[in-house]
This record gives sequence, structure tokens and C-alpha cells, in this order.
Amino acid sequence: MGVVSQLGKLPLPPGGKKMLEAAKLENVAVLARESKETARSAGSLRAAEAPTPKTPMKCIFSVDVEDWFHILDLPKAPQIGDWDTLPSRVEQNFMRLLELFDAHQTRVTCFFLGWIGRRLPHLVREAARCGHEIASHGYAHRLVYQISPEDFYRDALDSRKILEDIAGVPIWGYRSAGFSVTYNTDWFFDKLIEAGYVYDSSIFPASRGHGGMVGGPRTPYWIQRASGRLFEFPVSVVDVLGKPLCFFGGGYLRLSPYFVIRTMAKRVLRDSRPVIFYVHPREIDINHPRLPMNRRRRFKSYVNLRSTLPKMTRLLKEFPLTSFEQFIRKDIQGAPTRDEVVEGLLRIVPLSDSPPTTASSRAI
Ligand SMILES: [Zn+2]
Repeated sequence: MGVVSQLGKLPLPPGGKKMLEAAKLENVAVLARESKETARSAGSLRAAEAPTPKTPMKCIFSVDVEDWFHILDLPKAPQIGDWDTLPSRVEQNFMRLLELFDAHQTRVTCFFLGWIGRRLPHLVREAARCGHEIASHGYAHRLVYQISPEDFYRDALDSRKILEDIAGVPIWGYRSAGFSVTYNTDWFFDKLIEAGYVYDSSIFPASRGHGGMVGGPRTPYWIQRASGRLFEFPVSVVDVLGKPLCFFGGGYLRLSPYFVIRTMAKRVLRDSRPVIFYVHPREIDINHPRLPMNRRRRFKSYVNLRSTLPKMTRLLKEFPLTSFEQFIRKDIQGAPTRDEVVEGLLRIVPLSDSPPTTASSRAI
């Protein structure tokens, strides 16, 4: 059964029928656009597909720690100068998530905005105390393709240093705002290496509102540059009717019925890839304030918020979920050093199994 027809089985909010129709139309438009893009880059994509890793794959769970007003690319979204004046809801939501993870004895990766770390440092410390990995979501939540390489570097470096100071442990992982790395921002990987990161999870190998790299690599792989190396964990996608779709985070996870998420997750695992799940604290908060936006974005941003916690609970019961750090480090005790993280990543994918240049640079 197709994804679009599955959507018809979801419980809809008031006015949801019209919004669902809009989403279906948008799905068709997205599929048509993807089809053109995929055909255009087909030659380079075959070469870009990363090799199959050697280790058994688990599922990785991540939280992008930001507040309800950190929704991207809205004309009326509050600017960073106003964020301090807005009522924060991230604390109550994030603490609820920590309780849920604790109840299931699961450690996850928390990609904190540096801005959140500076405003609410106790959240970073509490997550670290509970054994979760602290990683960086940048400082100011800016779309990669809208800023200069130099501004991006400063933002990525600042957030890493702020979070390291608060958590008292080194930060190795990065995720961009809105998975906004694209084929036109190839400098992104160089700047992350220069800013001291070891791994990244920002490639979204499917079409999306903010960037995305349709046809990009799906399997974890090394990006090798003159300035060093970076390990990439692309967000998980599954082909449906020949098109890559994500069922594992954000609006995709909220829209999809649980049995579809479970089935698709098993397909990713059968393909020897880790499933990478992601949520935002606001997604478990059905009463958080709404930002003004058009009907289509409203549907994407707020549909099925009440389904997030029940789906997470089932995932925590049914899948072996862990953090990026635990996935990488295996049996290392205490905070791993850079060398230990690199060694762990090399066990997952040897350098000899990675392409000599990045998939993104080859596909440009
Ligand atoms: Zn974000």
C-alpha cells in the first residue's frame, strides 16, 4: 500500500481533511521533483553510494534540543534577538524525554543548540549526568545554505566550545539546522573538520523543505579531505514506489502510522544500515504556542503531535536504540577520546571502503 493511501487512515485534527488533501498534492509534487532530480544525477549517484559496513547495525535515537519557536524558514519566525523574551517550554519537554529514556534504560544523542546550552545549561548537565551523549546542533539554528562558510564555521565552533564547557566532556558530533546541507554547500564538511568535529548526521538523502540531497549516500561513510576526515551518518530513508522517503523523525514520524515506521525500520536494518531516529522536544508538547505560518507548513509542523510519545514508547520497547557514541565506541568506558571515537568509526567503515572524494563533491 502506498504512503499516500496510508495517510488516509490517520486520525485528523479539526480541519485536517483539507490539510491532508494539501499534503497529498504536495507529495505528488515532491515525487515528481525527485524523479527529475534523480534522473539528472543518476550517473554520479551510483558512484556515490557508500559501501556496506561490516558491523551489525542497531538503531540510533537522537533529540535535536531546541524550543517551540525554533522552526525554520518562516517569514514571521522570531529572530534570535527576541528569543530570550519568549516563554520557554523546552525544559519541561526535554526533562519528560529524559524520564522516558531513563524508564527504558536507553541512552541517546542530544544535539543541543549552543543557544539553548547558554540559556539553560542545567539541561546539558542533566543529560550528560544521565549518560546521554552531548552533541552540537550549531549555535543559532541557521540554515547552512543561507550563511557563508565563515559564519557557519564560527557558529559550529562556538556551539562546540560552549557545550564542552558546560558538559565537561568533548563534543564530537554535529547536526545542521533542518538537515540543510545540500549539493551546493560542499564547504560544509571542510568547516566541520576545521571546527573539530569527528562525525556528522546532516545529510538527508531525499527531498525536503530545507535542502536535502536527493540521491545522496544512505550508508555511513568517511568524507576525506585535505584538511582531515569526517564520518557521515546520513539520515535513514527507504524507497517507496522508487522514491526515497524518511519515516523516522519530525513530521514524517508523526504522520506515519506506527506499523509503517516499524516495517520501514526493519527494511533499513535488513539493508545493513543503522536506523537514525530524531525528535524535537516540542513534538511531545501538544499545547505549545503556534507560530503564524501557511496551511501547508502548519500541517507539517503540528500534525499528530499527540502521537509522538506513544510511538517513541513503542520504539523504545521494540528496537535496540542507542546513541551515536554508544554505537561507535562499543566497550569503551568513560568519555571516549578523539582517537577512540575514530578507532570505533574505522571499525564500522574502514577507510579502504570509503570513496576517495566525497559523494557530494562528486555529484556537483
Ligand atoms: Zn533544529
